[in-house]
Amino acid sequence: NITLKNIEKSYGDTTVIKDLNLEIKAGERIIFLGPSGCGKSTILRMIAGLEPVTSGEVHLGEREVTHLPSGDRDVAMVFQNYALYPHMTVENNITYALKRNGINKSDRQDRLTKVLGMLELDQFRKRMPKDLSGGQRQRVALARATVKKSDYFLLDEPLSNLDAKLRVTARRELLKLHKEFKQTFVYVTHDQVEAMALGDRIVVLNKGAIQMVDTPENVYHHPRNIFVAKFIGAPP
Ligand code: ATP
Ligand code: MG
Repeated sequence: NITLKNIEKSYGDTTVIKDLNLEIKAGERIIFLGPSGCGKSTILRMIAGLEPVTSGEVHLGEREVTHLPSGDRDVAMVFQNYALYPHMTVENNITYALKRNGINKSDRQDRLTKVLGMLELDQFRKRMPKDLSGGQRQRVALARATVKKSDYFLLDEPLSNLDAKLRVTARRELLKLHKEFKQTFVYVTHDQVEAMALGDRIVVLNKGAIQMVDTPENVYHHPRNIFVAKFIGAPP
C-alpha cells in the first residue's frame, strides 16, 4: 500500500498541493483525474521521489520514503515526457531496461518480442527515438517501463498521444499486466473514459485538493460536489 499523509507542496508562495491524505491499497489501480494544472503530475513525482514534498509523509508499504532518493524507492514509472535513451534504438532501449532489471540473457529476446508485440512496435525495433512519432515514442516508453517488476507502477498520462484504437489496445494490455503481476497502479489522466475503464477507484482533484475518492460508478452516478459533477458526473 501507499500512504500519503498531510502532503503539502509549494513553489515559492504558491501552494499547488494542499493537505493531501490518501491510503492506496496494495494491488489497487488508483486513478488521479483532474484538469490541467491541478497537481496530478506533482503528486506522482512526489511518490516517485522526483520532487521533494514541502511537508508531510510518503510511505511505500512498511517503509517511510519521504526523504529517500528516487533510486532507492523501487518504483517503475512512465513520465509524461517519456524520456528514452536518444542514442539507442527502440530494441536497445528495452533490452537495456531488461538487463538492468536482472533478466537473464536467455530470456531477454523472448521478453523483448513479447513487449514489442504487445504495443504494436515490431516494425520500429531498429529505429532511433528521434525518428519516431510522439505516439510511437510513448509506446516505447510504456513498453520499457513494463519491464521493471516493481510493486509500484506509476504512470503519468501514458496513453495521451495515442489514437483511439491504440489506446483501447494499450488499456487492455495494461489490465492484463495488472492481472498477472498485481502491482499497485497509480495512474494519472485527465481523460474520464480512461479513468472509468482502468480504475478500481478514482481520485478527483481540483486545484491541488481532493474532491472525491470513490469507485468509477459512484463518482459518475453520485458526484459529491458540483466540480465532480461537472467534470465527470452523469448528466442530470
Ligand atoms: P497537466 O494535466 O497539464 O499535466 P498536472 O495536473 O499534472 O497538469 P502539475 O504538473 O502537477 O499539473 O502542476 C501543478 C501546478 O504546479 C501547476 O499550476 C504548475 O504550473 C505548477 N508547477 C509545477 N512545477 C512547477 C515549478 N517547478 N515551479 C513552479 N510551479 C510549478
Ligand atoms: Mg501532468
